[in-house]
Amino acid sequence: MSGFSRTPGLRAVSTAVSALALLVVLGTAGLLFGRRALLLTNLVRLGKPVQRFDDVPQRVRNEAVVVLGQKKLFQRLGPGLIHAFIFWGFLVLFPTIVMALIAAVSKDHSIPWLGSQGWFAFLVDLFCVLVLAGVAGAFWIRKVQKPERFKGSHKGEADLILLWIAGIVLSLLLWHASRIALGLNEYPAGRSPLANGISNAYGTGTTTEALERVFVWAHLLLVLGFLAYLPHSKHLHIMTAAVNVWFGRTRAPGRLEPLDFTVEDESQMRFGSHTIADMTWKQMVDTMSCTECGRCQDVCPAYATGKELSPKLLIMGLRDQLFAEGPSLLGDPAFKASPLVPNAVGDDVVWDCVTCGACVQECPVAIEHVDHIVDLRRHLVMVEGRFPAEGETMLRDVERSQNPWGKPQAERADWTEGLDVRVLQPGEPPPEVLYWVGCAASFDERARVTAQSTAKLMQAAGVDFAILGPRECCTGDPARRMGNEYTYQSYAEQNVATMNEAGVTKIVASCPHCFNTLANEYPDFGGRYEVVHHTELLTELLEEGRLSPVAGSEEITYHDSCYLARHNDVLAAPREVVSRIGEPLEMARSGKRTFCCGAGGAHMWLEERGNQISEERAREAADTGASTLAVACPFCTIMLDDGVRQNGSELRVADVATLLAEALQP
Ligand code: SF4
Ligand code: SF4
Repeated sequence: MSGFSRTPGLRAVSTAVSALALLVVLGTAGLLFGRRALLLTNLVRLGKPVQRFDDVPQRVRNEAVVVLGQKKLFQRLGPGLIHAFIFWGFLVLFPTIVMALIAAVSKDHSIPWLGSQGWFAFLVDLFCVLVLAGVAGAFWIRKVQKPERFKGSHKGEADLILLWIAGIVLSLLLWHASRIALGLNEYPAGRSPLANGISNAYGTGTTTEALERVFVWAHLLLVLGFLAYLPHSKHLHIMTAAVNVWFGRTRAPGRLEPLDFTVEDESQMRFGSHTIADMTWKQMVDTMSCTECGRCQDVCPAYATGKELSPKLLIMGLRDQLFAEGPSLLGDPAFKASPLVPNAVGDDVVWDCVTCGACVQECPVAIEHVDHIVDLRRHLVMVEGRFPAEGETMLRDVERSQNPWGKPQAERADWTEGLDVRVLQPGEPPPEVLYWVGCAASFDERARVTAQSTAKLMQAAGVDFAILGPRECCTGDPARRMGNEYTYQSYAEQNVATMNEAGVTKIVASCPHCFNTLANEYPDFGGRYEVVHHTELLTELLEEGRLSPVAGSEEITYHDSCYLARHNDVLAAPREVVSRIGEPLEMARSGKRTFCCGAGGAHMWLEERGNQISEERAREAADTGASTLAVACPFCTIMLDDGVRQNGSELRVADVATLLAEALQP
């Protein structure tokens, strides 16, 4: 019998003191947590509106797959397992916090039913081990492997938090062991093998009784201390990540949110992000959700080639500025927040991005880096007129010539010479398929071959198609990705009006950038069409037997365009074509985790500083040993052809359509 249990009076006093002490620590932790949580909530409420309350079933699926299933983290198995052990452990062990709160006041009580379940005791044991293994694994990665992705993260704070988690779990185990030693467990001790084993080290006397009190309080103080510290630390993501995933984009990843230039009150009109006051509430939650894991940095082609841009540091910079100036903005709506560029984010950082979306694809907490970057560009371009000089030439050409090559529109259909391609005239009946050629394949010599091959293939298969010729204008994509939303929207409206008036229903596009804009962004402007990429149409024609190529033995490696694979999930069709005409070889980075060619985000027209992304990708292609590098994008054709030449490689770069046209039986 314990000393406390011998005297009912003492026992009552002890219970009262414990309850009071618990109230004090709970109140203190709750106050610290609540004050910070209120500040963060008020900051988010300052954010500009963005529609993220629709599509609830998809949001529920995202929570199940991305949060509970840890899908993004499992893109890297080892670190993914480590995180999953800790995260799942947090979920499974959560009821033990309530048990400890009850037992801190009265050690003879626990959660009704669950506290006496042997299976739960076993799960607790198991997850204590898994969490400790996770913590050890995380330390191994951080201290022994030291991956580059943690460069710039708050490493000391991460170490402290890992130790804290280990402390919480160890104190839980020691507390459970002491309860078993004292016979306080309501479940068979054998169900909890680890705690039961540890309990053998204890006696049953007053020392163990005292230790039981020490461990339960140590456990609670560690948990409540963690709760109070959490919203002040980088581990804030424990609170915000699930929220950010819930409000993550559910529409196509390649679609940018349009700016609304029709707002009546001009003071409410948004021209991208100038200061923290211009950020949307989702962008604010983004910054609060970053775990500093560096997965985005690790896959960023700009970072990989030594540019100043790190998507991780970009988000951390925005977060620092939000936390530094947000409270002043809350206190005084007239407070003049400082510009995000260059205070939080350097000018070069904004222009280094190729909008490839690798960071977004990798991020486990649904942060939307590209939207942040484009919003920063929008303000710099549309309000300040501050952007790289080469960009000015491109924007001028788009505005004056209706294409970024600056060529006369009258030359747009010149590539059709000798091909007998129908140019759709106003008032004519629409074709079954409108071939959207795009500016690159219309005006660039190397890319024109793709358009010619695609046209020949469609003719060979008997597809009823036509082009718009001089009535086709730039989709506006380069201007939009550069930040000139105004120019983009005027082209979107013009092109949609042309196609709607022509009665277009189905479009085939050769350029993934046009494809993305037509399929995902024109619906915002009333343009709703069935849009397919030319590789999808060609696969369909192959499957229907309308095209019969001769299979060859040439080894071909296929490069996934970011705007086709990552942004639009077109992975199988180009591979199907390649497999019909040669021996496919995969590059190390392929599919949705492809590596950019360096042309996206208007970079086709911007000067690239330092090492070239295209050369890095061309090297990777050459490493496969293939003789041909197949592509499915005119930008990739131009960039990778340059990259191959710079590397002095023998690789032949050709569009999938060109290779198929060459392999066609006469
Ligand atoms: S979109 Fe691509 S280039 Fe831009 S930050 Fe993300 S990974 Fe880097
Ligand atoms: S933005 Fe996402 S991927 Fe990048 S460091 Fe933060 S949490 Fe990790």
